[in-house]
Amino acid sequence: MFTLAFTRRFSMSHRLLALYDGPCGIPHGHNEYVTVKLASRHPAPLDGEGNLVAPFHEAKQRWHAWIDKRVDHSLQLGPSDPLLTYFREQEPAQLHRILVTPGDPSTEALAACFMAKVSALLADQGSDLTCTEVAIQETPTNTVAFHGHPDAVLTTNGFPDPPWWQRPDDSINDL
Ligand SMILES: [Zn+2]
Repeated sequence: MFTLAFTRRFSMSHRLLALYDGPCGIPHGHNEYVTVKLASRHPAPLDGEGNLVAPFHEAKQRWHAWIDKRVDHSLQLGPSDPLLTYFREQEPAQLHRILVTPGDPSTEALAACFMAKVSALLADQGSDLTCTEVAIQETPTNTVAFHGHPDAVLTTNGFPDPPWWQRPDDSINDL
């Protein structure tokens, strides 16, 4: 069994309202690395010619395009953050740059949303590959890895069906 792993760097900002009195309670930023691990749904022997599980560029093209165009330099907020009201009323032109997670935008929530998104993109392109792990390095010493089904850990309360993270498009919110 082979695993393909791709890493991409992005910059982001967020705040965690549940940790309001701590350092994460004020908007602040991180330079993060996301690594996705992909494996074939139907593992087979190498064919003795091309010997590829899947061409790397095909597997990562849409995923990295989404990270680069939408996630990089996004502001990440939970649905109840009053900053959303501020942007709705004062700077609506910036709403498309705000990534909204169900609950606080912790690295855990982001990893599960990323797992759902990359899975939706792969399914949409008819890929034989499936995502087995998403790991986000939020600082050089802290990494959160998720494997399993995102539906088991994310609520969709207050979001449309399907929410942005389940859709194979470039969305990062449902504002
Ligand atoms: Zn942070």
